[in-house]
Amino acid sequence: MSNRILERGKRRAANDDLPLAHPGRMKRAAGARAVFDKKTIALVYDFDGTLSPRPMQEYTFLPKIGEDPKAFWAEANRLAREHAADPLITYMHLMYKKAKARGVRIDREDLVALGRRVELFPGVTEWFDAIGEYVKIRSETNGVTLRHYLISSGLTEIIEGTPIYRHFHNVFASEYWFDAYDLPYPKRVITDTGKTQYLFRINKGVEDLRESINQHMPEEKRPIPFSNMIYFGDGETDVPSMAVMRKNGGHAIAVYPPGKSKANCVELFKAGRIDFFAAADYRRGSDLFRRTCLLIDRILADVRVQEEVWRVTREVKKGK
Ligand SMILES: [Mg+2]
Repeated sequence: MSNRILERGKRRAANDDLPLAHPGRMKRAAGARAVFDKKTIALVYDFDGTLSPRPMQEYTFLPKIGEDPKAFWAEANRLAREHAADPLITYMHLMYKKAKARGVRIDREDLVALGRRVELFPGVTEWFDAIGEYVKIRSETNGVTLRHYLISSGLTEIIEGTPIYRHFHNVFASEYWFDAYDLPYPKRVITDTGKTQYLFRINKGVEDLRESINQHMPEEKRPIPFSNMIYFGDGETDVPSMAVMRKNGGHAIAVYPPGKSKANCVELFKAGRIDFFAAADYRRGSDLFRRTCLLIDRILADVRVQEEVWRVTREVKKGK
């Protein structure tokens, strides 16, 4: 695990509402008043095609090495097919192979700097504060916390360079070892199905990647129930995540590029994989904003009901 992630973990533990690693957080100090603690709402986003119109490499790495994006993806996909290789490992390898062939060295810091060039859909930059404000108003004094998470097959380093990085409670994305051999080597590759692991990490509060996610944890011990989560994606690569969300009582929204085809979203909607779909216009008042707020209203009402049930259950147990 990189120092960056350790640092991030420490920073979160120091500044945030709850420490990053879960198990200790449900325990109370002896004598402390019991509180209903499932009041965190998590909005979880895919990156490429969801927050940004094109794959992040097309704004950053590929222009830097003078590679045409269309030709690059065609070659990467062809190689993966021919060798029955994992498409993500193949693209991560091919990028650096091509950079080396052209005599271009791109290190971690270069990728972070390139991240500033990534284009975002309209309203994305303001979205996090605007939704935060909405939750604050609607939850009144109910002690609800809102968190944003990113789960992406793209590169951690590039995401770190984008202006929205600071809004995320945690970012799970593919990453390189930069000093592995003569070429950087994939350290972590997040595939379509692999993304679901991180949904469970959020759900179970086991966000520290040094900890195993596989141990059993009963539903009532999980700090962020799926019903408090909304997943945002843009298409086929999000299907496993959307399926996990919906099967576990969570919510999902699909987006399409404004003014372009919504066919993928319609398919997802018809297949029951999403609650809603909308153009990727994140500005206040857009369909996406409005529909997200509707789901948030439902989650907030649900939290209130569950809190009341929790109270009544305790009273019944005490024989009041
Ligand atoms: Mg995507």
